[in-house]
Amino acid sequence: MAPKSLRLSKSRFLAGLQCHKQLWWRVHEPDAPELVPDAALRNVLNQGNEVGRRAREYVPGGELVDLPFYEFDNKVAQTRRGPRGYGVVEVKATNSLKPEHLPDVALQVHVLRRAGLPVERAAVMHLNPECRYPDLSNLFAREDVSAPVEGVLLGLPDELAAQQRMLEGPLPQVPIGDHCTRPHDCPFLERCWPKLPDHHVSSLYRIERKKALQYEADGYATIYDLPSDLELSVIHQRQVRAVTAGRMVVEPALAGALVQFASPLAFLDFETVSLAIPRWDGCRPWQNVPVQFSCHAEERGRGLVHYEWLADGAGDPRPALAEALVAACAGARKVVAYYASFERDCIRQLAEAVPRLAKELQRIEKKLVDLLPLVRNHVYHPDFGGSFSIKRTLPALVPGLSYADLKIGDGETATLELMHLMFSEELSPVERVELREALLRYCERDTWAMVKMLAKLRTLVAEQLELF
Ligand code: SF4
Repeated sequence: MAPKSLRLSKSRFLAGLQCHKQLWWRVHEPDAPELVPDAALRNVLNQGNEVGRRAREYVPGGELVDLPFYEFDNKVAQTRRGPRGYGVVEVKATNSLKPEHLPDVALQVHVLRRAGLPVERAAVMHLNPECRYPDLSNLFAREDVSAPVEGVLLGLPDELAAQQRMLEGPLPQVPIGDHCTRPHDCPFLERCWPKLPDHHVSSLYRIERKKALQYEADGYATIYDLPSDLELSVIHQRQVRAVTAGRMVVEPALAGALVQFASPLAFLDFETVSLAIPRWDGCRPWQNVPVQFSCHAEERGRGLVHYEWLADGAGDPRPALAEALVAACAGARKVVAYYASFERDCIRQLAEAVPRLAKELQRIEKKLVDLLPLVRNHVYHPDFGGSFSIKRTLPALVPGLSYADLKIGDGETATLELMHLMFSEELSPVERVELREALLRYCERDTWAMVKMLAKLRTLVAEQLELF
């Protein structure tokens, strides 16, 4: 038998399926800093625990066997029941069955059979995307995976033995590849992946990994190395031109595209939370629900006026948010967003959730204009680094303005902190005030960024006209 510290658990085995090297580090360096779960992972784990707890309520007569892990005999005795043989049900906090769930179930079937239990059926019980609050009777959907699990079981003993052998030896040599991010991002990416030079070919906007590898194999490591007769998309061509010239490229068509941004404008941004188990009417599992917005609105006689709204507490925020939104956008001819399909989705949700304001909300939706394609189709700055996210484009287009000075500086953290603010009972009143302030300033920065970016684009057009 393997020494205690080298024994496999379910999560270790699944990590080993992704990569033996990752498993080796997990086992031999359990205190590695990369293995400390970050806020995003902690949120997923917390919500997963809540889903597991809920799932037990959906199994009539079910009882939690919650004995310490070393009480093997008592666990087996408590689990022994059922004249129809045994079934294993794995609960997953996802909205669908995923291929990586199968080895997870298979390992449990393997262990139970080796312990002498004749397991005959296996199922995955996942969240049901058709479920709508408040009717949670169909919160879960079950899928029978008995047949595919039997397939996985065929190779499982060999894989277990291989993992155990590997763990007793030195760190295995495993080349980097697609497996580093599938099915999950490996925590050791920074250890294995080489630091790429600036403007590496993989930084071409949304380039497929396969294509970047091919460019590399052809001897083109960076954008500077690409031959001039290479066939490239229009955006890639602009990126190559900007990078090789070392300065921003602005297309003459920008002037025409700016016409749709007709004043008075409102600049709008939402923040959302996503709950595994829905809490508000009409919501499904993991739905992104708007709970905050910031809006800078141009108003006659008042200049640029800032409106903001942020949920307080666990109640349904949508009616009050929708009302504040309608008031904020009341005078706008066009409503500017960055990646407007997100704002469109939020506004549609609000219209469904608050029918008395549906007409006004639909009017706002019709006024949406998107700043992101305006930049993507007309401008490239070498500092964009192949990304048109506002976090990359803002500091390049508006030097001195970024998210670096804020307590909350990215959308993922904002979402987690919003959940904290709304649902945590552990916050003191002072912490609550501070967190609200940090969230308000973050969302405000998003709309202020759009104000400044649009102004910059107009300046660029004016400069072009002066040149002609
Ligand atoms: S980065 Fe890739 S090769 Fe390195 S341990 Fe992780 S999965 Fe394995």
